[in-house]
Amino acid sequence: AQLSNDDVRSLARDLGVKFIRLQFTDIFGVLKNVSITVEQLDKALDGELMFDGSSIEGFVRIEESDMYLRPDPNTFAVFPWRPRDGAVARLICDIYNPDGTPFAGDPRFVLRKAVAEAAEMGYTMNVGPEAEFFLFHVDNDGRPTTITQDRAGYFDLTPVDLGENARRDMVLTLDQMGFEIEASHHEVAPGQHEIDFKYSDALDIADKVVTFKFVVRTIAQRHGLHATFMPKPVFGIAGSGMHLNQSLMKNGENAFFDPGADMQLSDIAMYYIGGLMKHAKAVSAITNPTVNSYKRLVSGYEAPVYIAWSSRNRSPLIRVPAKRGMSTRIELRSPDPSCNPYLALAVSLKSGLDGIKNQIRPPRSCDRNIYEMTPEERDAEGIGNLPTSLEEAMRELNRDEVVKEALGSHVHRRFTEAKEIEWHRYSTQVHPWEIEEYLSKY
Ligand code: GLN
Ligand code: MG
Ligand code: MG
Ligand code: MG
Repeated sequence: AQLSNDDVRSLARDLGVKFIRLQFTDIFGVLKNVSITVEQLDKALDGELMFDGSSIEGFVRIEESDMYLRPDPNTFAVFPWRPRDGAVARLICDIYNPDGTPFAGDPRFVLRKAVAEAAEMGYTMNVGPEAEFFLFHVDNDGRPTTITQDRAGYFDLTPVDLGENARRDMVLTLDQMGFEIEASHHEVAPGQHEIDFKYSDALDIADKVVTFKFVVRTIAQRHGLHATFMPKPVFGIAGSGMHLNQSLMKNGENAFFDPGADMQLSDIAMYYIGGLMKHAKAVSAITNPTVNSYKRLVSGYEAPVYIAWSSRNRSPLIRVPAKRGMSTRIELRSPDPSCNPYLALAVSLKSGLDGIKNQIRPPRSCDRNIYEMTPEERDAEGIGNLPTSLEEAMRELNRDEVVKEALGSHVHRRFTEAKEIEWHRYSTQVHPWEIEEYLSKY
């Protein structure tokens, strides 16, 4: 449903809202808040509230720091875990410059641009995310650990444990906030969970992913647990992905579906896959943006390592789930939940659109277990590798004009600067593994 500013005003009144959090994310997808009281709501809805952009990472320098928040009325939601009396609501905002132009460093704007380009071509992107996360215990000082008491695995029904209770509470809370939860289950690793909600258009889903992570963390904390979306918190067990199921709609129809075509996948679907595969390496820098992301993208844990697609098995980068008709979609399996969902969807969509514009055909699908193929066999099938480190991904990003354009020069520059520092800090550290391996040996 589309809400107007007036709707927000009356909802706030009817629900007894006292505090409103104006939310947006920095370029790393970290949620930021400015809290106001309901008395300031009119001013906020008119886009008159200002904040200092220089204090937000990746935004602007001190001398150009005034930024304006324009709340999107469609994002109005009350926090169900806060008291009814003096309720707390939130609004997600777009960010504007003092001259009234959209701020180029706002990730929501980056996604809006990609969505607008798709709309010009007649397409709407639908996305269904599958976010995985771990629930860990906290120590006596309240600090998160990587310890989990739970021994369950995929889809297991465990005797009611802390994690299961917390997950149920998360589902209920999300439901109260307007999420339609489609599935929620235990994942492969101990302490690992997944909650899936219904697909929607790209902007709505990016907003929902940001909200989702915040709700999951908040509810975990109320159960004395720590929820983490870190991609690979524990060596030797599965990491957490955030598969992104994607499709394009045109004139009310699913543009990926063609009942008469091979595999019932339209040319548009094939080109979209072709575009995603062509730009996969650069896209990784955005969908897998941390040093730790690349410790998940290794063989043996259902995470992709190779740039291939398949309708059958789950080892490739892109899988085409069996559903057809309106549910026809492709599943991009590389993203992890440490990514900024606005940017991840923007670069995925732009890559797919590039495939459509340039009619990029993907190599033929690979239904074999890619991990068991020899390097020569993979070469013969045109199957490349995803980057194996953040550094490699950044190098790929810097030479991919389509992905760079999707980000815009402001975000690209700020992102690159920050990631170079992150990589440098990491690569000059001496890690426990090195001590273990070399200290006595040499
Ligand atoms: N955890 C796996 C990943 O890292 C996915 C497991 C699954 O959903 N089948 O992507
Ligand atoms: Mg799943
Ligand atoms: Mg899963
Ligand atoms: Mg999946």
